[in-house]
This record gives sequence, structure tokens and C-alpha cells, in this order.
Amino acid sequence: MPAYNFVLVRPGELWLKGKNRNDFVRRLRRNLASSVEALYPEARVFSPYGRFMVELPPDANAQKVAEICAATPGVSSASPVLRLQNDPELIVQTAVALAQEEWAGETAPFAAKVKRVWKGFPIDSPTLSRQIGEGIIRAMNLPVQLVHPVLELGVEIQDSCTYLFARRIRGVGGLPVGSAGRVMLLLSGGIDSPVAGALAQKRGCELDAVYFHSPPLIGEQSLEKVERLAKILSPCQGGLRLHVVYFTAIQHAIHKLCNERFTVLLYRRFMYRIAAELASNRHCLALCTGENLGQVASQTIENLRLVDRLTPMLTLRPLCTYDKLETIEIARKMGSFEISTLPYDDCCTLFMPKNPATRATEEELAAEEAKLEVEALVSEAIEKMEVIVL
Ligand code: ATP
Ligand code: MG
Repeated sequence: MPAYNFVLVRPGELWLKGKNRNDFVRRLRRNLASSVEALYPEARVFSPYGRFMVELPPDANAQKVAEICAATPGVSSASPVLRLQNDPELIVQTAVALAQEEWAGETAPFAAKVKRVWKGFPIDSPTLSRQIGEGIIRAMNLPVQLVHPVLELGVEIQDSCTYLFARRIRGVGGLPVGSAGRVMLLLSGGIDSPVAGALAQKRGCELDAVYFHSPPLIGEQSLEKVERLAKILSPCQGGLRLHVVYFTAIQHAIHKLCNERFTVLLYRRFMYRIAAELASNRHCLALCTGENLGQVASQTIENLRLVDRLTPMLTLRPLCTYDKLETIEIARKMGSFEISTLPYDDCCTLFMPKNPATRATEEELAAEEAKLEVEALVSEAIEKMEVIVL
């Protein structure tokens, strides 16, 4: 049995978008290339016949590459494939050998499905399907089921070669990252915001990220953690800018001058002001956060309104209605959970009052903010910001 030499990637909702189709195809090809190249720089992605193929370098782990492709937004499924010459005998032989190798120990029903994209091939699809099916029955004695089989041996005949596959990995679906424009993700080291970012990516949003960092009270490890989280979000969009905003001076000012009941709400209002300004500088269409309804005091509907009103910019909150367990499940799948649960502090934990306000009015917060040089604090933070390009 030769080793897999390609991965076949099937796009998802692309057909929905008739007139943007070319743009979508271009973006998905670019995103697939950048995701795969993070592992194998020599891999090549191309898009013949409305699907996508990844040409693997020798000794590449095809299963791993197929999993990476399946996790790229816009993909409905991916399969490791074998490319062969258009030789009927070789195709039947290899298809049977592939089934034996991939389905060892299986007892579920199967079907062989041949698609002849190139009509010049000397044997028609039903005949070739039958030959392969009979070969598999002889070799493995599996039952046949032509409609919705559990196991599928796929054969696709093109003019210059034939592709074989025996497995499909389900894709995340969604739209290619970038097709819905750019958004600014408020990325903390927690569990929620990386998941929110991934969900926004899944609906086509390309991310920029901003992290509010408070050294020396919050250690460098927290920044490294956020950087590692950003690196999980980066490959499927071909890179990501992480803005690191130093937040210590603002927190000190709030701690020194304002009523401590409002500490967290005031932090959050500064985060929103700064994020909105960065977002408009970067031509982002919206902000995106990991906020959720009612998990913590600052996230009651009333309090979300108090940050919303600060900027005309829309804020996406993909996790708004999620249970923590649902979020954790996604975090585990995307590989962020282990990083997010490393025990380092976040700036929101600094100077936490014993009794934070679960409700506050606009007037109360405005009165607190009147004690501060809000604009100067915001522009100073933006001036001193650092950018990490991933
Ligand atoms: P997370 O797990 O994302 O930290 P959380 O449930 O802990 O969320 P909060 O800490 O109240 O909730 O933060 C709510 C949202 O505000 C976060 O999801 C994130 O989008 C944003 N946020 C909070 N702290 C920071 C920070 N230091 N830098 C950037 N964004 C932040
Ligand atoms: Mg948090």
C-alpha cells in the first residue's frame, strides 16, 4: 500500500454565496495553506473542480493534515487521499488494499462510490464501483449498503489522475475566515475569550486581538499565556496582530480615586474605550468578547449596557447564551483549555472589592469617571501599547 500523498478538502457553505464565490475560494485556499504550512512549510494547496487539494511532502502525517484542514472554518469535511494513475486494474487493487488497511476489524456496511469527473475514462462508474465492491466483499466479507453507508470507499477520476479515500473527517463548517471582515477580540487569558474568537472566526470574522496587561502585579507568564492562546487562533487566518495595552496606570488611578464598588465596571469601561479606538484604527467592523450573561457580576444585562453605550461600535458576544460546560467543550476541542487553566492572574482580579456592584447606573459611573482624566489615560495607554505580530 502506498502512503497517502494528498488531502482532499470539501468546502461547506460556499455554494450559498453565489456572487462572492471566487472571493470565498481564494480566502479558504489561503487559510488552508497557512494552517497546513504551520506544520509542513513545503505542502501545497490548490483548488481544482470546486474542491481543495493539499499536496503533502514525503513522510507527512496525512491524518494530522486532514484534521487541521477539517478544523479550518469553511470546511465541511476532509479526507486523506491516495493519488494514482488512471489505470483501472491498479485502481481496483489499491482500493481493496486501502479498505483492508483502513477498515481492519470493521463489520459495518460499506459502499464503493465512483465519481467520474473525466468522462474519457474507459470504464463507467457503476461498473468500476461494482468491481471494487466485489473485491472488498471477497477480501473482508463486509455487508453492502448503497444509501448512507457507514464506510465509504471513494474514488474520483479526473483527467490526469485518480483519487482514493476511505475516511472522512467532519469539518467545523462555517465560512472562510476573513469573508465577514475584521473584528477586534478582547483576549484575556481566560477560558471564554479564545472560544469567542474561534466562534467569530467560524462565521467569517478575521481577528485582531487586544490584551490588557498589568505588570508588575500581573507577571510576564500571563502575557505568555495570552500569546499562546493567540497562536491557536492565528494559523487559520494567516497571522494575527496581538495588541498589548499596559493597564497598570489606569487601574492605579481607579483604585486611588474611585469608589471601590465600581472597580470592575470602571476597568471594563476603559477596556472598551481603548479597544474601540484600536478597532477603528485597524478598520475593524466590531468588537468581540467572551462575555456571557450572568456568569459574573459585571455581566448582567444592565452592566453589559453600561459598556455598550461607550462606543457606537457593535460588540459581538458569541458566548452570550452558552453554559460554561458548552464553552469548555469547545475550548478542549480547539486546544485552548489546558492553556487557559494555567493558574496565572488576570488584571480584573487586581484590587477586587469585597462587594462589587451587580447594578450600577450610567450616572454613578460617570460621576466616578469625572474624578479621572479619562481621555489622557486612554491616549497614553494607546501610545505605550506594543504589538506582537504572530
Ligand atoms: P475570560 O474567560 O475570557 O477571561 P471571563 O468569564 O473570565 O472571560 P471576565 O474576566 O469578566 O470574564 O471578562 C469578560 C471578557 O472581557 C473576556 O471574555 C474578554 O473578552 C474581556 N477581558 C477581560 N479581561 C481582559 C484582559 N485583561 N484583556 C483583554 N480582554 C479582557
Ligand atoms: Mg477572565
